[in-house]
Amino acid sequence: MSRIAYVNGRYVRHAEAAVHIEDRGYQFADGVYEVCEIWRGKVVDERRHLDRLERSLRELSIAMPMSRAALAQVMREVIHRNRVQSGIVYLQVTRGVARRDHVFPPAGTRPALVITSRAVRPEVGDKAAEAGVGVITVPENRWDRVDIKSVGLLPNVLVKQKAKEAGAKEAWFVDADGFVTEGGSTNAWIITTDNTLVTRPAEHGILAGITRRVVLDMIEREGLSFDERPFTVEEAKNAKEAFITAATTLVMPVVKVDDAVIGNGHPGSFASELRSKFHEVSELEPV
Ligand code: PLP
Repeated sequence: MSRIAYVNGRYVRHAEAAVHIEDRGYQFADGVYEVCEIWRGKVVDERRHLDRLERSLRELSIAMPMSRAALAQVMREVIHRNRVQSGIVYLQVTRGVARRDHVFPPAGTRPALVITSRAVRPEVGDKAAEAGVGVITVPENRWDRVDIKSVGLLPNVLVKQKAKEAGAKEAWFVDADGFVTEGGSTNAWIITTDNTLVTRPAEHGILAGITRRVVLDMIEREGLSFDERPFTVEEAKNAKEAFITAATTLVMPVVKVDDAVIGNGHPGSFASELRSKFHEVSELEPV
């Protein structure tokens, strides 16, 4: 079965799917994206992801490419056509196609929309979570609007590659004051020795992760103690547990930060429990 992508109004074979060379996403990274998990044939936290998509677009003065209901419909069609039961759906909206010029294109230029979906075997993430992953720390060097889920991900690409070369899964950006902001594609968490979950507030310096929000809801539901505040690399290295969150990774235990082993070097019990209970708390929408 060949994969199918949605590109600007048409469902096309993935291998042949293409956008124009003057798509502003291609030339200026002038666009935004979303990634939702598909779990047991359901879209996970669709409402929140589409809310965030609308916000990202608003912040950049890019129009929604179609109504939210139509977008949800196309998303489902792509998932159906690719027969994805477990995996991801990816949405990308750019400011559209226009002659290259930094300023916004003429009024009426239609935003460009691409949607893809692919299967991911859940066992792969579950296996990684059983062992836990390592992270490295790197200086924060991104712009200050990382709250917008922009396709401009070059700093993220470079640090993720650096992590891979160091045998780690993720890189944590560290701000000028020594506080962890977030990972290249995940939010960062620690659990202190007095069992408090700590994560940076989503007001500034990080993307307000949807998985992060759901985990906060779980923490409240379970009556666990938490503190939304920045934490330092030193604190992380001395933490009882650490983990990262994202729609593609869910809750992933961290067992090493740079050369420091976290806890006993095995995934912590809190992180593992949050992972196993995640889909009890997330919103699940039928495809
Ligand atoms: N932070 C960054 C920089 C990301 O790219 C992502 C996800 O791609 C996240 C955090 C986690 O966000 P979410 O939980 O919505 O997937």
